[in-house]
Amino acid sequence: MLRRLLGKVDDGRFGRALAGMQAGWQWECKERKAGYVEGYVKHGSKQYMVVIERRGRGGTARCSCEDAVKRGVLCKHIAFAAMSELGLAAAARSAHRQLQVLGR
Ligand SMILES: [Zn+2]
Repeated sequence: MLRRLLGKVDDGRFGRALAGMQAGWQWECKERKAGYVEGYVKHGSKQYMVVIERRGRGGTARCSCEDAVKRGVLCKHIAFAAMSELGLAAAARSAHRQLQVLGR
């Protein structure tokens, strides 16, 4: 769902989300369940609410920023939230992986 959604974000907004990641934007997840995630993207004094939901085989998303509300596009905050969730899921999978005993 998240990968599919990210594929629909245009290059410029995707790039700005990556830049935000490098600049230390924060993703604060408020609710996470199957096919649904809701939280806040925070940077500086700004805060935007993002909701990503599964719809069919893909996903749909909303953000409280002007770009998303007025233009109806997948904004940089949605892209950032999706990337953050993918990263957190990958980190969780890694943490649960059994460590191999080496040099035995
Ligand atoms: Zn936004």
